[in-house]
Amino acid sequence: MKIETKCIQEGYKPKNGEPRVLPIYQSTTFKYDSSDYMGKLFDLEADGFFYTRLANPTVDCVEKKIASLEGGVGAMLTSSGQAATLIAVMTIAKAGDHIIYSSTVYGGTFNLLGVTLMKFGLDVTFVDPDLELEELQKYVRPETKAVLGETIANPALNVLDIEKFAKLAHNNELPLIVDNTFATPVLCRPIEFGADIVTHSTSKYMDGHAVSLGGVIVDSGNFIWDGNKNFPDFNTPDESYHGKAYARDFGKSAFIIKARAQIMRDLGSTPSPMNAFLLNLGLETLHLRMPRHSSNALKVAQYLEKNDNVSWINYPGLPSSKYKKLVDKYLPYGASGVISFGVKGGREACTKFLDSLKLAAIVTHVADARTCALHPASTTHRQLTDEQLIEGGISPDLVRLSVGIENVDDIIADLDQALKNI
Ligand SMILES: *Cc1c(COP(=O)(O)O)cnc(C)c1O
Repeated sequence: MKIETKCIQEGYKPKNGEPRVLPIYQSTTFKYDSSDYMGKLFDLEADGFFYTRLANPTVDCVEKKIASLEGGVGAMLTSSGQAATLIAVMTIAKAGDHIIYSSTVYGGTFNLLGVTLMKFGLDVTFVDPDLELEELQKYVRPETKAVLGETIANPALNVLDIEKFAKLAHNNELPLIVDNTFATPVLCRPIEFGADIVTHSTSKYMDGHAVSLGGVIVDSGNFIWDGNKNFPDFNTPDESYHGKAYARDFGKSAFIIKARAQIMRDLGSTPSPMNAFLLNLGLETLHLRMPRHSSNALKVAQYLEKNDNVSWINYPGLPSSKYKKLVDKYLPYGASGVISFGVKGGREACTKFLDSLKLAAIVTHVADARTCALHPASTTHRQLTDEQLIEGGISPDLVRLSVGIENVDDIIADLDQALKNI
């Protein structure tokens, strides 16, 4: 099946006489005829549901759809994108370990790893993703457990050289984890370029309508955990889970089963069946929305590039972008819908511009059907110092614009009147 067909048909496959549309199994628990059968479920020896914290039939169908879209062997939905990042990291690393993340990281991920998990003893180094492979190698330590980056960084919008990061990871027998939120599998499938694990905030384009918070972790099944000396936790029995050794007992699905059976079991960052249902509705039109977001954003970027009140523009899809080569390689069907640009006159002009918008709304959220705008330096990233802002690719005059799927002429007209109003 092609990606468009998968968006519609994968996941829920009703049998004779069953509902045509994915049902919402709003039940925390599931009934069995014998304790013996239920025992097999707990031993992961039989398939079935027992408690919605670990798995639920509605959630399960959406997981299968996303695994298929990304080309993985399995997926797990989480209650938010933050939970997806947290669980992906916790499945691999613990106190005393170290991970490498691209410095153009999403603000929430920066706090999670660089502040909160640091307090729990996990060390993280943020590296300039544009460095050469030999330079990046210098940051790898004996206790490094994973390399992470974002396909299109939020909000810095630089494009990750996924193959370079995969080489860095694999040369050191480490997995590469890619946050693919902004690209979605419609525009880029990182597993095809060597990513081992893919995460998303499904709250963005996948849901697409700004109605349900969520995240997902997809396992490519390609990373060899078995016998890898960097990962004793995959190769020794987990006494907290019936003595299972994940690499030995679950083969290609070792990572995603460990993520669920161990970390999700303990954290309980589970999505609700209702949210999974809403996410599924969003996924059914993802293949229609992403090309429109991308073509609208390109036209808006071309308009802004010529506007006198705009000091600089960053949209990876522009022919003038320094990421043009990487876009041609990784994002040939479009560079998604988010643009950032500088408004001449700094902070004050930015505020005036935002307050003058009529169609585009000021919201924290990005990546849904409606055009919206944000000034990160005064809102989402206000806890970062100017130095950290610039290191993360965000200048104080940066406006982030999430281009929706309205008629692009209306979007440009709104921006035009607001820029004239500064
Ligand atoms: C929004 C976002 C997250 C966090 O997701 P939530 O669903 O808001 O928890 C993580 N990574 C990226 C790239 C994001 O844009």
